[in-house]
Amino acid sequence: MDNLNAQARDEYREPTAEEILLDAASRFAAGKIAISFSGAEDVVLIDMAQRLGLNVGVFSLDTGRLHAETYRFIEDVRSHYGITIELLYPEAQGVQNLVREKGLFSFYKDGHNECCGVRKIAPLRRKLDTLDAWITGQRRDQSVTRTDVPFEQHDKAFSTASHSVTKFNPLAGWSSADVWAYIRKNEVPYNPLHDGGFISIGCEPCTRAVGPHEHERAGRWWWEEATQKECGLHAQNVITIISR
Ligand code: SF4
Repeated sequence: MDNLNAQARDEYREPTAEEILLDAASRFAAGKIAISFSGAEDVVLIDMAQRLGLNVGVFSLDTGRLHAETYRFIEDVRSHYGITIELLYPEAQGVQNLVREKGLFSFYKDGHNECCGVRKIAPLRRKLDTLDAWITGQRRDQSVTRTDVPFEQHDKAFSTASHSVTKFNPLAGWSSADVWAYIRKNEVPYNPLHDGGFISIGCEPCTRAVGPHEHERAGRWWWEEATQKECGLHAQNVITIISR
């Protein structure tokens, strides 16, 4: 009976993050699939991909508004793993137009979508136009916008009529504790801001440390509604909430 239960558990268990990464890398050609890197979860994915010997790219969005610590962290990850991290930049004209018209902190008054659109979404869209799949560190328990995140999904936000983009979320079922246990056990580099109370880290003006009983994404765009706290990278999550 014990064996049967063990077998049943095995058959119905969720795939591990490593299994999802292996599956993703086997289905998409090198150069057509990449890990999106910014936070602690993403370095876990980079670490796993390295251990598995997978040939997947790594890119990160340099919005021009990141913390100094984050830039050093990106460099630490690059040198620790000996990998190329492709930094994606916003188009100068778009940033100049926004700043000329509305100044450097328009997001506090107008909401973050316009600035994120110029500094994050446009560069990401240009990158995803060259890929068939991307891998993210989204977890279901990160926020109300992520409770339904699947391990794999058709990325409606970045697919077009002629180009389908698949998004993998290998850590969808992980908790924050799982992430940090992996980081400690495998001595994975992490952003030093985490030691100062920052949990989810984005751009400097839009991120603050959170208190002991606050949700981990409470420090992102803290002046906005929790249901809108996606920068557009994962706009599909917001679409899902709104359509409920
Ligand atoms: S997180 Fe803030 S500073 Fe960064 S792109 Fe979005 S609105 Fe702009």
